[in-house]
Amino acid sequence: MKYDIEADWVLLDTCNYRCGYCPIPHEKLGSKIHTFATVDAWRAAFDASGKTWLAHITGGEPSAYPDFVELCEALTDKHYISLNSNMSNRSLIRFANSIDPSRVSFINAGLHLEERQHRSGVDAFLRHAQELRVTGFRILVSVVATPSILERFEEAIRLLEPIGLFPIPKLMRGPFAGALYPNAYTDADKSRFRTYSRLAREFYREILSRIDEPPSLGMLHDDAYVDAVPDFTGRMCEAGRKFIQLEPNGDVFRCGGKDRQGNLLDGSFVRRLRAEPCNSTHCYYFCNKYVAPEATGAWTLPRQWWSRLRGGSSRVDG
Ligand code: SF4
Ligand code: SF4
Repeated sequence: MKYDIEADWVLLDTCNYRCGYCPIPHEKLGSKIHTFATVDAWRAAFDASGKTWLAHITGGEPSAYPDFVELCEALTDKHYISLNSNMSNRSLIRFANSIDPSRVSFINAGLHLEERQHRSGVDAFLRHAQELRVTGFRILVSVVATPSILERFEEAIRLLEPIGLFPIPKLMRGPFAGALYPNAYTDADKSRFRTYSRLAREFYREILSRIDEPPSLGMLHDDAYVDAVPDFTGRMCEAGRKFIQLEPNGDVFRCGGKDRQGNLLDGSFVRRLRAEPCNSTHCYYFCNKYVAPEATGAWTLPRQWWSRLRGGSSRVDG
């Protein structure tokens, strides 16, 4: 994949699930889907920037977007995509059979075990994830690791076994059930988390050793942050130049809803010329990827691990 700029693109806020840990307010999750532009207008807007994009499409639930498959088809003509999905919408079967997997960096399939069982959505998840895997997509299954999910993690492992996938524990961050995470993890939670992260790395190492670059979401190393999440404030970062945040209406922000850089749809988007100090907060996955290398220290774990896999080193951190 050769791209100039990556977008963390919230395509819509709407979702059919109501996970207790979701950072999006429930009234937004339940809102009517609003499309701000046609497929052709989105394609034209990305193309008109003159850059090649890696669009990380997230939400809400992107696969519920009208013309989701047509949008992905149009974008992957010239650009690349990656996807966050809860795997519940049947449009994913059409996606699997019409999109070129080589234009898709990775798919993060969120298992959301408790919500899914509550809605009898397990079969759909397995069907859609299996179809994507056999049609050649790099699919990573993540599970938001609340304490109760960590206790039931073996169940998630058994659930995915028949389709040849493995759950990756994803760090619980922010407020949940009256506590603030990751600080609220107990020693037992942390120990479980580390064990399952290690097993997930073992499972995915062969798949990841075959790809051009590690997935932007370095969830396989979330165990590095069970004690605390890193603070990137003040560090030199390429956000605004190599990475931007894209809103459903085309508005572009440097990062974390700060520093508007115009609108992609109306052609007013302006890319920054150079790295600048971080003045925002975001998920540390993109921070790890775009902060200047000398500033990251221990936070380059996903990249170091992946390059050792690629280099054939016999020592890969467990
Ligand atoms: S599936 Fe994702 S977007 Fe939907 S409610 Fe759950 S966490 Fe939020
Ligand atoms: S929050 Fe992360 S991605 Fe955003 S500017 Fe800061 S370091 Fe860069």
